[in-house]
Amino acid sequence: MTFKDLKIAEPILKALIIKNYEKPTPIQEQAIPLVLQGKDLLGLAQTGTGKTAAFAIPIIQKIFVDSDNKAGKIKALIITPTRELAIQIDDCFTEYAKFTGLKSTVIFGGVNQRSQVDRLKKGTDILIATPGRLLDLISQKYIRFDHLKYFVLDEADRMLDMGFIHDIKKIIPLLPKVR
Ligand code: AMP
Repeated sequence: MTFKDLKIAEPILKALIIKNYEKPTPIQEQAIPLVLQGKDLLGLAQTGTGKTAAFAIPIIQKIFVDSDNKAGKIKALIITPTRELAIQIDDCFTEYAKFTGLKSTVIFGGVNQRSQVDRLKKGTDILIATPGRLLDLISQKYIRFDHLKYFVLDEADRMLDMGFIHDIKKIIPLLPKVR
């Protein structure tokens, strides 16, 4: 099985070649076709098995091939528990999407919000966020989800262990029902 067999679009394939990804890992092989079909998915795999690309690649592809793609509006939201993970995920999206014209932005707490707000104002297709800063910037009206289609809870188990359930419960009602 290759990424080409999974019907990944040329600009994404090109980025994966640069990353030296020769073939999908088992979680990618299983997850990518289901996400491309628009199905909901719960994935379980150990660290280092390529989970990030298992959701990032098909989400980029779905947005890239969507003729109704509203450039610069948030179409995908990825929530993750820590700043380090958020930055890592943003790096992955940036690399896999670099020939698609899609933009990703990362927001997290513990730092001044100004540069994050400046980036949001320029428009982004994909938003990676930690829960607290996300709620904060939503309440300040810097973030809207009218065009959101894809929602990922990364490391959902860890997020619950860390007590983020209350924040998640506040965020979910703010998203479109169909996603
Ligand atoms: P993750 O489990 O998402 O943290 O990924 C672990 C590492 O595997 C990262 O350094 C990725 O760049 C790398 N990786 C992800 N998918 C592939 C693949 N299909 N082939 C080779 N390396 C990969």
